[in-house]
Amino acid sequence: MLEIIDIATPRAYPPRVSAFTRRFWSSLAEGRLETTRCTACQRFSFPPKQLCPHCWHREVAWAPLSGNGRLYAATAIHAAPLAFRAVAPYRVGIVDLDEGIRLACALLENLPLDSPVRLVVLRHPDGPLFAARSVG
Ligand SMILES: [Zn+2]
Repeated sequence: MLEIIDIATPRAYPPRVSAFTRRFWSSLAEGRLETTRCTACQRFSFPPKQLCPHCWHREVAWAPLSGNGRLYAATAIHAAPLAFRAVAPYRVGIVDLDEGIRLACALLENLPLDSPVRLVVLRHPDGPLFAARSVG
């Protein structure tokens, strides 16, 4: 389970939720990070996909992710796009999860590259987002 942090304001740019990705977002709201995993080659995809982007197999299953990884890249956004102007400046990073997934998300702290990080759930009134913070 990921730590859940309550945020008072709605998401600046809410994600588009499809019938297929609804499960990802409802699990995330409960502190569970999940994605799809190919039933043939066993590789994970992120974001969740209905077919395997590695071997094109058409059968995938939902699988839990640890949320643990390392910080691959990071930056601070000062000149933000209009939707994010109210929350600027903010940090974003690219995280390599232990399961081999590379994803982009908000960073809650200024961390050196290659730091161990853990994903957390940001529980906004209109739905969840995920972000990364330092371990411990
Ligand atoms: Zn595959």
